[in-house]
Amino acid sequence: MLTTPNFVEITPTADIRKDRHGNRAKCLQRLIRLDLPVPHTVALSFDTVRAIADGRMPDLDALVGVFGKGALLSVRSSSEMSDWGGPGTILNIGMGDEVAARLSETHGPDVANAAYTAFIRTFAVDVHRLDADEFEGPITPRIAKEAYEAEMEEPFPQDPTAQLAEVLRSMARAWDGTTARILRQAQGAPADAGLGLVVQNMALGPGQGISGAGVVQFVSSQTGEPQVTGRYLPRGQGRETLTDGEAQFIEHDTRGPSLEDVAPEQVQALREAAALMRVRLREEMQTEFTLMDGQLSILDAVRTPRSARGEVTIAVALAEDGVIPRHEALSRIPPFTLNGLLHRQIAVGVDRDVLTTGVAAAPGAATGKIVFSAAAAQAAAAQGEPCILVRRETSPEDIRGMHAAQAILTERGGASSHAAVIARGLGLPCVSGATRLQMDVRKKTLTVAGRKVFHEGDIITIDGTAGEVINGAVEMVEPALGGAFATLMDWADEARDIGVRANADTPEDAAMAHRFGVDGIGLCRTEHMFFDPLRLTVMREMIFAENAQDRQAALDRLLPMQRADFIELFKLMRGQPVTIRLFDPPLHEFLPGDREGTRALAEALDLPVSRVASRIENLQEFNPMLGLRGVRLGVTIPEIYEMQARAIFEATIKVSNKGAPVVPEIMIPLVSARREVELIKARVDAIAAEVRLKSGKDFTYRLGVMVETPRAALRAGEIAEHSAFLSFGTNDLTQMTYGLSRDDAGRFMSDYVQQGVFPEDPFRELDVDGVGELLLLGSERGRAARPDVTLALCGEHGGHPEAVDFSRKAGFDYVSCSPFRVPVAKLAAAQFAIRDKGLAEDVHATL
Ligand code: PEP
Ligand code: MG
Repeated sequence: MLTTPNFVEITPTADIRKDRHGNRAKCLQRLIRLDLPVPHTVALSFDTVRAIADGRMPDLDALVGVFGKGALLSVRSSSEMSDWGGPGTILNIGMGDEVAARLSETHGPDVANAAYTAFIRTFAVDVHRLDADEFEGPITPRIAKEAYEAEMEEPFPQDPTAQLAEVLRSMARAWDGTTARILRQAQGAPADAGLGLVVQNMALGPGQGISGAGVVQFVSSQTGEPQVTGRYLPRGQGRETLTDGEAQFIEHDTRGPSLEDVAPEQVQALREAAALMRVRLREEMQTEFTLMDGQLSILDAVRTPRSARGEVTIAVALAEDGVIPRHEALSRIPPFTLNGLLHRQIAVGVDRDVLTTGVAAAPGAATGKIVFSAAAAQAAAAQGEPCILVRRETSPEDIRGMHAAQAILTERGGASSHAAVIARGLGLPCVSGATRLQMDVRKKTLTVAGRKVFHEGDIITIDGTAGEVINGAVEMVEPALGGAFATLMDWADEARDIGVRANADTPEDAAMAHRFGVDGIGLCRTEHMFFDPLRLTVMREMIFAENAQDRQAALDRLLPMQRADFIELFKLMRGQPVTIRLFDPPLHEFLPGDREGTRALAEALDLPVSRVASRIENLQEFNPMLGLRGVRLGVTIPEIYEMQARAIFEATIKVSNKGAPVVPEIMIPLVSARREVELIKARVDAIAAEVRLKSGKDFTYRLGVMVETPRAALRAGEIAEHSAFLSFGTNDLTQMTYGLSRDDAGRFMSDYVQQGVFPEDPFRELDVDGVGELLLLGSERGRAARPDVTLALCGEHGGHPEAVDFSRKAGFDYVSCSPFRVPVAKLAAAQFAIRDKGLAEDVHATL
């Protein structure tokens, strides 16, 4: 072993460290330890490469001496994490007139000329950044050398040491380039991330006999299932063929020639090498190899590239085969990766004609024709035509249309705008806050500046994972929920130490939540049950009632509908807890927003248009989100909550009769004062007593409060005296803590994040410092006043790993999030529990 302070020859015992020499160097050492046929390799540390960038070269004569005279060398980058990138590989260093002449004798002039020309081209274009055009086409080494000399005003260097010096210098400097820096920092690399380099003796591919280069992996990148993929280039080198050979399959294949046809033993050796790496490196590896006169060399191996689905399948298979423990399989998968399995996605590597971008508000992708209204979406759905609902912003009126659409696109709104929240609940892709779009709802046009005007019926694709609006249709891959995904979720359930419930408003949501194996429903927003056209009319009658009697008549008609909803929910959840939130939004949300709608409503209610219009006007508020909504409605128009409580209790009796008792949880929204809770509690208790008396049946229920105002958090102690549970609604709490409208913040949020005012959109990622402090204060005060109080977080943040960790640390009982976020929350919860038990060790610690 030869070691100098500047470079280290990689041997089984050499001191090679990932944080000093990079991932590739470490991985090559592991391959060498496994006795795999890796050519001689030398590693240059981060410090050495930094010195090279500053003009201080290591002892290159000594370095070249490691490989012997006349050797051809390759240099590859070796950053600490493979996805931090690095300059591309340079092959055939050491090639000059003498080596080419020798090569011509052993391998023939074609191979020698091709290899020499390729190297001069690489040296000129990649190392010295000369114009590639000068080196294009079928040129000979002589022409290439002349072109080089003309540009550089010096002959092409023949000395291997001089060539190597230039290669190392250019790679070291490329690492410092602005684009490279931005790209790796986007992958999480620190500002001072270092680059290592590995210099390897080339096992020259294009020889006589069976010679060539190839890449192989034994699982599919798309599915993660066993499948041999790769290619072999006879007489090839690196990723190119140097002569006229065509790429071949690795294993026997009816579609064409394969390496196995001519070299079955070598293919078997590759299989065995992959199997060995799988067990000892505990990972599926993609192997780069060469054959020289039939002799196999393994040049490099990297983690097999994989889709989200592949990631899960591979990790689960490794654990099922006993290669890694289950907790490690769980810890390996970044939680948001699961979004790639739960929704349709755009296939990897397809071209996208991106029209504009917005907030990536709900994941998945969908293609359909543009529609500009909820009614048009429903009409399209009725004809079986996929559509994308395009709105300036959505309101509760649009919910039916959202159900009918394949995806949602809005001009306004951020990560917890109405459109975003509902789309996530429905599992629909959504891009919100696409402010560069000009939408003319009346003319039914969508203008993309500098591109084109889209009309209703034109086809677009929404990628809610990337926040992109794409022209036309794009190839998709389907979600995959069975098999490995289901197994992973079972393991996550065993490992996690916090409950995960779903926010589910409809029986469809609840069924989906149940399929994802939730611990209950943490938030059922009951107002969403009133947007069915039939119910909406009755609801409006209730709003327009002139007196208590008329109002009660309308509520009496709503009661059986609500009761039926709750019966269905309780049945679907089979005894699991269901938290039902009493009516929350301002009433005007149920009224039409335009003249046409007002006229239709007047007709339906048999009232003059002017009366309807003035009533609508009366209900308008300057700041509806801070106005007459939530518990304030419950205090001023108590009949609505009474109807809901009655429906809940009657459903409880009905379903409890059929099996285990149902214990409903009733939640009061937007509380800010203890007295509000007292008033509502008195009424709900009275309704419970009435239902008990009338039915002759007993039941229990839990009444709790949604902590959504800063005051409720501050006064949580006295509020908890009347509350069995406190559930923190972090959407409104964030809105009110910042004084920032969740429906309008999307307009400037990206400016705020880009300029570092907020580290992240606080509606997407919990603001642990500010809103988090209120959560801690509220939970501590609540628990001090009532030690058995149940604590939960039910805003959209509940599905975000940071909020899950925060909730665990704060001792919350559960988080609740949109059904499609449940798997992410569960996996994150499992990972944090594993981490806190000290089980998340270094993946490769054993070799
Ligand atoms: C909240 O405010 O956090 C919440 C869950 O309720 P909504 O989103 O319905 O306002
Ligand atoms: Mg709220």
